[in-house]
Amino acid sequence: MKLPSIMRVFERGWLSSNNILFLGREQTALVDSGYLTHAPQTVALVSHALQGRPLDLLVNTHLHSDHCGGNATLQRTFSCRTLIPAAEADKVRAWDEDALSYKATGQQCERFGFDGTIAPGDTLTLGDLHWQALAAPGHDPHSLILYCPEERILISADALWENGFGVVFPELAGEPGFAEVRATLELIAGLDVKLVIPGHGAPFTDVDKALATAFSRIDYFEADPVRNAQNAIKVLLKFLLLERQDIPLPQVEPLLSGLPLVHETNRRYLNKSVAELAEWAVAQLVRAGAAEVACDRLMNKN
Ligand SMILES: [Zn+2]
Repeated sequence: MKLPSIMRVFERGWLSSNNILFLGREQTALVDSGYLTHAPQTVALVSHALQGRPLDLLVNTHLHSDHCGGNATLQRTFSCRTLIPAAEADKVRAWDEDALSYKATGQQCERFGFDGTIAPGDTLTLGDLHWQALAAPGHDPHSLILYCPEERILISADALWENGFGVVFPELAGEPGFAEVRATLELIAGLDVKLVIPGHGAPFTDVDKALATAFSRIDYFEADPVRNAQNAIKVLLKFLLLERQDIPLPQVEPLLSGLPLVHETNRRYLNKSVAELAEWAVAQLVRAGAAEVACDRLMNKN
């Protein structure tokens, strides 16, 4: 399935979300900006594709660090207008790093501002196409997904990937998330979609298969929430490793114990000592082929 000619998808590694660029007749726009440490690469990709045109608009599906970490750099480079989910406006205005998840996860995000907000039900023009903003709580309570009925394309952020969806973060703090994931998947199942552009991984067309995988994954988590907690610890360690590429083994324990979200998840679901938790998480990443141990270091493996 070919993308409309005015759209480009930059498929990034897992540390950065994908970026979706729109080259409309009147306006250019970008959805999601990747992680802070990849911001120069994001600017290079966007500048190259813009071929001298300005970037007019930047839109974030949600404000996890891998989706908005390039915002500040893009704003400096292009002076673009920026739209964020309305529910996050106060937190961004005050730059409340606790409420914005960056402290809890130990992830970096440079402070950025915004010019306007998007709420579920709004219609946005990106390039020359009209996109509906839809609420997609679950992975993140305030995430939006963007649907273009005319082209039957869905920008699904971390609500639906080809092989699952993002960590159900609210549940880690004892707040509801599983029912929201399910409702979001049902919302997507009710849309007429021929192409999904996920927040991570390649765009895909077999929407039914992705939905079936996602529904079975949420069943699996709901049956035992410890599974979501275990997955979260692995994902958080993998993120640290993606950013650093390798971590001396003795530093894994202090790194993990320094993350409030790890502490909370462990206290609520896992009840391991920090040493046990670190050892368990390292073994899990190695077993999954996501890391290897050599010379007393944990090394990233893709
Ligand atoms: Zn996310």
